[in-house]
This record gives sequence, C-alpha cells and structure tokens, in this order.
Amino acid sequence: MTTIAPGGRIGILGDGQLGRMMAMAAAEMGYFVHVFGPGKDSPAAQVSHRSTVADYTDKAALDAFARSVDVITLEFENIPTETLTYLSERVPVRPNARVLEITQDRYFEKIFISNLGIGTANFANVENIDELVQAISHIGTPSILKTRRLGYDGKGQARIDQASAIDPIWEEMQGAPSILEEFVKFRMEISVIVARGVDGETACYCPVENRHKNHILATTLAPADISKRLSSRAEEIAVEIATKIDLIGLLAVEMFVTEDDTILVNELAPRPHNSGHWTIEACAANQFRQIIRAVCGLPLASPVRHANAVMTNLLGNDIADWPKILQDPDNSLHLYGKGEPRDGRKMGHVTKLLPLNKKP
Ligand code: ATP
Ligand code: MG
Repeated sequence: MTTIAPGGRIGILGDGQLGRMMAMAAAEMGYFVHVFGPGKDSPAAQVSHRSTVADYTDKAALDAFARSVDVITLEFENIPTETLTYLSERVPVRPNARVLEITQDRYFEKIFISNLGIGTANFANVENIDELVQAISHIGTPSILKTRRLGYDGKGQARIDQASAIDPIWEEMQGAPSILEEFVKFRMEISVIVARGVDGETACYCPVENRHKNHILATTLAPADISKRLSSRAEEIAVEIATKIDLIGLLAVEMFVTEDDTILVNELAPRPHNSGHWTIEACAANQFRQIIRAVCGLPLASPVRHANAVMTNLLGNDIADWPKILQDPDNSLHLYGKGEPRDGRKMGHVTKLLPLNKKP
C-alpha cells in the first residue's frame, strides 16, 4: 500500500529521542505508533501506543512487529540490513535496506557521494597497518582515521598528525575496517535536512550551522550565515543525494564549508537529525511531521521557516539547569525522559526563537 491514511499504524525501529519525537508527531496526526528497540522504558516507548523490547535479529519479534503495522520507518541507521530486508518482505520499509547499506558504512557512503560528482574530503579505505601507511602517503597529515561502521558523536575516530607513531592509533581501531580522511580546514559546518516522498517530491529545510564540542553537536543556528549561492548549492546537493539514493523519508546531509567556499559532504543520516530539532518551533511543519508524511505517502508539508532559531543540546548534567532555562520565556525546553544523566548523553535540548531579521 502506498498511502497510509491517518488512523494507520506506523512501526519505528529504534527507541531513542528521535523515535520519541517521531511518535509524538505521528500521534498528532492520528496515527498509532509501535516502537521496536532493545531498551526497556525507552524515550520512544514512553510516548508510543505499543512497544516491543527485543533484539533487532529476533525473527519471532520481527514477525509480530511486521504484522502489527502498515509501514515501518527508523530513527537509527545501524539496524542490520538483513532485518530491514526481512521486514520489507512483509510490510513497506521506508527508507529501504539499500539506503542503510550505504549510510551505515563511511566508505560506501563516500564512494556513493563522490560517484555523483559531489565533493568530499579525500579518503582511502584502510584495513591493515600497511594500507594505513599507504593512505597517509597519499592523503598526508593531519588526517582522521574513522571506523567504517558504528561511529557516532566522534566515537571510533583518531586524528593523525604524524606519519610516524601510527602503531598505537591503528591498535586502537582493533582491526576494524576504517577510512582515512584528509583533515578539512573548514570555516563552518552546516547541514541540510531533505524530505523525499513516495512520488519523488522533495522539500529542504534551510541550511543550518552546527557547532560541536568534544565531537558532539552543541548548538545549531538556523539559518546558517552563508551566501544565497552556497545555500542553494547545499540544498541542491541534498536533493541530488536523496534522489539518487532513492530515499523515502528524511535525509540529513552534514557538510563542511571551506575557506574558499567549497562544500564537501561529510556524512549522511537517513532519518530525523539533531540539527533539525529547531524546526519543531520555527517551521510550519517540523522534521518529525515531515518524515511521517513522507513515509505514509502523504504530500510533503512546506519546510518554510517562520522564525530564526538557536538550538542547544542538553548533555548529561546540563538538564539540571532547567529552572534557569525556563526563566527565559522565549526558550522551549525539551526533555527526553531518560534516566541517568551520564556525561555527554543527550538528555534534552532547548530552542530559542528569534525574529527572521535577527541573526542567530
Ligand atoms: P556525529 O554522530 O556527531 O555525526 P560521527 O561520529 O558520525 O559524528 P563525523 O560527523 O564524521 O562523525 O565527525 C564528527 C565531527 O568531527 C565533525 O562534525 C567535524 O567537526 C569533525 N570532523 C570529522 N571529519 C573531519 C574531517 N575530515 N576534517 C575535519 N574535521 C572533521
Ligand atoms: Mg557527523
């Protein structure tokens, strides 16, 4: 079935804060959400109609999940592709397994992007120390070694400053297939979130600037302070990738803007993204409503922004500041219902709206 009308049942793979905000948007539109993930009392399960706590490889649980929903989407790209293939034999899965196959692996992802003629940092596949030596001789230093799979928030990455002294760095990767990337001297990090519907229609939120602390997103400023030309180019790149990868749903495209105003794509995420949380307050239709519309085969909403915004993540003990945050009447506070505020754990975020004529 192409269109899932309101009242239908949406399955979400993954049970974190992105699933939580998707589930709330789906409920606002009259859908019933069934969330599937490994965690008990998860942020998403707390606000969903149904939840299944099971491993992504549990076939019996996946069968029951597939029977209970009309369409499946995800909040997390590291679901085994076999799981997606298995589910898609039973019910539409949007985005599809191939999108995940590409975006789960930094090497496949970069090959895919550069085959479209879109710029990335120079990169090379590295599977052993000899290949690392080879790669450094091509790419030079400084450079960054990243595991191909399962990295997030800068985990599984090491900076290489000298071609010597690489043994301990390779040791740290524990033999995991990796890529070596040229270190980009960017002047700004931006991202574009694009939605693509069942019929190929696309809609982009404006490019935003992302500032990181300790490799974790700290703040998003909407819009990014870049020229019209760069902004259009960034959107064009996002639409091109979403179209060529045959996405249904949302795709976040993280990019570097270099000193000479070249855009290089860093990373893709085929799901709602932390750098799109500002859309909840600042856009007529936020990223979570938009993905629900896309995966249900509904027409996309306008991504137009009616305010500028600054979104700040609340990591670990930052949430203890909630009373102070609420003192500012322009702040919108979001908390994810997570238990222990471990260091660096995303516990919530706060968005402050600004007038359209005021730079964030
Ligand atoms: P996240 O989950 O936050 O997206 P991640 O672990 O998937 O992060 P990346 O996005 O590749 O990894 O890297 C995290 C951050 O490290 C980037 O946002 C950027 O600030 C920095 N970084 C990554 N690759 C490069 C590079 N080639 N040159 C310069 N800085 C880089
Ligand atoms: Mg990233």
